[in-house]
Amino acid sequence: MKLAMIGFGQAGGKIVDRFLDYDDRTGSGIVRAAIAVNSAKADLMGLENIPQENRVLIGQARVKGHGVGADNELGAEVAEEDIDEVQNAIDAIPTHEVDAFLVVAGMGGGTGSGGAPVLAKHLKRIYTIPVYGLGVLPGTDEGGIYTLNAARSFQTFVREVDNLMVFDNDSWRQTGESVEGGYEQINEEIVRRFGILFGAGEVGDGQEVAESVVDSSEIINTLSGGGVSTVGFASEEVDMNTGGGLLSRFTGDGGGDDNLDAANTTNRITSLVRKAALGRLTLPCEIEGTERALLVLAGPSEYLNRKGIERGRKWLEEETGSMEVRGGDYPREEPEVAAAILLSGVTNVPRIKRLQQVAIEAQDNIDDIQQESEENLEELVEDDEDELEPLF
Ligand code: GDP
Repeated sequence: MKLAMIGFGQAGGKIVDRFLDYDDRTGSGIVRAAIAVNSAKADLMGLENIPQENRVLIGQARVKGHGVGADNELGAEVAEEDIDEVQNAIDAIPTHEVDAFLVVAGMGGGTGSGGAPVLAKHLKRIYTIPVYGLGVLPGTDEGGIYTLNAARSFQTFVREVDNLMVFDNDSWRQTGESVEGGYEQINEEIVRRFGILFGAGEVGDGQEVAESVVDSSEIINTLSGGGVSTVGFASEEVDMNTGGGLLSRFTGDGGGDDNLDAANTTNRITSLVRKAALGRLTLPCEIEGTERALLVLAGPSEYLNRKGIERGRKWLEEETGSMEVRGGDYPREEPEVAAAILLSGVTNVPRIKRLQQVAIEAQDNIDDIQQESEENLEELVEDDEDELEPLF
């Protein structure tokens, strides 16, 4: 699937930058165009792969290239005011060669949190191709204002995109790591998961055509209907040279135990599917009740088989209760077999309910503190008996 990716704010820009690197490394061909939008000049300068002409600085008149702090209302305002600047960059990309837009942003900050939904709304008004969002939730240790920003951005972003795929930093935080080092690893996890998912169906020249190919329309159909999505992933290293896997090496001829090899391949696939669905999701949630799902099995073609994918798909149908579970393979010459599962239209997400609760508390606290500080200031400035007069 060919995407036009737009990274909004620091997190968004960095993640799209990593997608370009992933594309380069794996030749997956999913990033047809990459744009970064920010109100902070320094963040744009820190990017490595996004071409200079595709880095758009907005809000210069208001914030002079210094960013909006964590003020996402200001983020939304500057995005609206300067939407033409962003559109100019989009005008330069061949949108007729693109299957969908992907707007990427951290939802806890200011620029991306406020600006990404504004851009999504704008794109949907102008283009007929789908506009997807990839929104990152802040860690719970980032504090009240980030949680409040994320909760408000989430509500708006979901409404403005054709589907919001969510990644929760909180579930991926690792203790004992610097924030920056931690993000690097987290961003790698993000591009790996979404890279395999969107890479399916982008079979390049000379690559093998899959037995049951996943193509762009299946990804689009899984995401259509809107709502919130999460992605599960599991992988296992395999030996590229043995053809049928370990067993063929033991049997010596590689062909005598086809049945056993096939069983091995099938079992590997079904166990990867279970691990992917029941393990750590990009947004933790209950998978029962998922509306639509897509299973992508990636790996060397000799390690993929229709039976495994069929079994995995059936199992997913039972676990989610969904009648719309698609599946297929994505042959890649990498020494691993990976299962990526897109669960679209998830509704039982306790993490979001908790986020909203904390956000409401933070909002109440902020209002109280503001009122209190106004009263305190008045008490300080006014003399007790009101005997003094201000100058004017
Ligand atoms: P903005 O530039 O004002 O949009 O704000 P940032 O993108 O800097 O930060 C918004 C939120 O994104 C933060 O609260 C973090 O939770 C998250 N974040 C920042 N940088 C990264 C990153 O590189 N990767 C990931 N996964 N999350 C990030």
